[in-house]
Amino acid sequence: MSEAEQREAICAIGASIFARGLTAGSSGNISVRLGDGWLMTPTNASLGRLDPARLSRLDDDGRLVSGDPPTKESFLHRVMYEERAQTGAVVHLHSTHSVAVSCLAEIDPADVLPPITAYYVMRVGRLPLIPYFRPGDLALAEAVRGFAGRHHAVLLANHGPVVAGSSLDAAVNAIEELEETAKLYLLLRGAETRFLTPAQIRALA
Ligand SMILES: [Zn+2]
Repeated sequence: MSEAEQREAICAIGASIFARGLTAGSSGNISVRLGDGWLMTPTNASLGRLDPARLSRLDDDGRLVSGDPPTKESFLHRVMYEERAQTGAVVHLHSTHSVAVSCLAEIDPADVLPPITAYYVMRVGRLPLIPYFRPGDLALAEAVRGFAGRHHAVLLANHGPVVAGSSLDAAVNAIEELEETAKLYLLLRGAETRFLTPAQIRALA
């Protein structure tokens, strides 16, 4: 894909995410790896109203080359690219059901969601919970770094998911699967439930 096509793709996916209520206000951010840097959604920009020409264009060292200044959460993206060489895109949302699950006292921080469906197991897999940090605290980046080498998806406590993928489509599909699974988990809470068995999970590998 050319840079122009990547810009259009970020704006189209941002609009779709926003229209479906997967992130609200000016929350959520998207980045895509280019041959010589990154495209990133700007600070204080609503994903519902992105302008291809105003996306933040960063060089290989993360310096702003053109467009508006990048999201203040750009460090979450950088950590994913630094720790996962094959990453082509990163998406971070404040999606309601994922955030709700991230606040529950009952969840296992080593693996937040149970294996409810095959698609969750294949697209997300094991999901660690990153402890809470106040907005802008760079200690959050280091906490994410500790997991990013082993996990392409992490959930920030009382905040939301960060997901890396080989492409923008892969990252978006995975974060949407995560949000749907969080919703299913909340629907099933309190009901006697059959999750996938270890043998069923192994068969998906
Ligand atoms: Zn955030």
